[in-house]
Amino acid sequence: MVVATGRLDYLGDVLDELKAQGLYRELRVLESEQGATAVFDGREVVNLSSNNYLGLTTHRALKRAAIEAVERYGAGSGSVRTIAGTMSLHQLLEERLAAFKHTEAALTMQSGYAANVGAISTLLTDKDVVISDALNHASLIDGIRLTKAARKIYTHKDMDALEAALKESGGYAHRIVVTDGVFSMDGDIAPLREVVELCERYDAISYVDDAHASGVLGAAGRGTTNHFGLDGRVDVQIGTLSKAMGALGGYVAGTQNLRDLLIQRSRPFLFSTSHPPAVAAACLAAIGVLEGEPQLIERLWENTRYFKDGLARLGFDTGASETPITPVIVGEPDRTTLFSERLFELGVFAQAIAYPTVARDKGRVRTIVTATHTEEELSCALHAFEQVGRDMALIG
Ligand code: PLP
Repeated sequence: MVVATGRLDYLGDVLDELKAQGLYRELRVLESEQGATAVFDGREVVNLSSNNYLGLTTHRALKRAAIEAVERYGAGSGSVRTIAGTMSLHQLLEERLAAFKHTEAALTMQSGYAANVGAISTLLTDKDVVISDALNHASLIDGIRLTKAARKIYTHKDMDALEAALKESGGYAHRIVVTDGVFSMDGDIAPLREVVELCERYDAISYVDDAHASGVLGAAGRGTTNHFGLDGRVDVQIGTLSKAMGALGGYVAGTQNLRDLLIQRSRPFLFSTSHPPAVAAACLAAIGVLEGEPQLIERLWENTRYFKDGLARLGFDTGASETPITPVIVGEPDRTTLFSERLFELGVFAQAIAYPTVARDKGRVRTIVTATHTEEELSCALHAFEQVGRDMALIG
């Protein structure tokens, strides 16, 4: 029998308020592989909402590596890293990641979110200042909120504003400039060369979160640092293993001292169990695929160009996107949700992203094409966008 005390009844009011504002999220349920087409809520759709950029979630090499790891080491790791949960696979993965990113060392965490929260809260003290792009990801914002450091937010990608913030912050022990490499809601790329040059000029630490650039930009998907030819000049690089890498996790790549200090102080690392062996093994296999199958990234970019050109020809506002993340701007939250629902009825899943994740009038459906979409699937999706766009008078 389920017993409810009634003490949580007020939560119903909170939920009603969210519903009234059009901000209530329903979970779509995936009943198939996370493929280019997939079954959500019983319906087969063209899937434009996953971060499975290269199709690695179902790549043979990752699946085989995961199965072998389960058979050899079991289903779980059984401990946090600092007690009994550091397995040889974890260490091997970290060595491979450091080599891949051209850094001295790397440390994995349970997710990209944990990597940002753990790294930022370890790096900053009350004597420091963090200078952060206004459109940085929530995991960076949450990491910053956990620190006692002073904070300055600069206008998105505005290098004059960043320089002004650096000039004003000479009195702190350390200054750290934090930016997404690829911005997750708009798909635009940080001006990393300028950011790094400013950091060098003002002796500030540079920190880039490459969650959406890993496996997408740079040679073999090494990320924005490599894409801009800045290897060796970015102090802290965050990557995720959950998106293009096809499995789960995050990592911090940088110096050996950075890795060693994170092991001592990063709270998600210290107080949460390490990855199951299958995850570490799949990530190791993913690095091999990135290095051995360059055609996957080429295909991702071909599909990106095809889809973006199609949306532009139809007259949609796709903002400032430069990567496979392409937002289609709709506006107010309820119109955005309706747009996404209409697309779904026509067999296309493009998630609505509305306020407070983005500004109230900048609600959008966010599309992400992958290497595994066929031209036919993308063309079907464009037809659906055209139909709903005309019905809702978003395009002429
Ligand atoms: N950083 C950015 C920019 C992201 O978009 C995300 C994913 O949503 C993360 C970090 C978190 O990564 P993960 O999903 O591995 O926790």
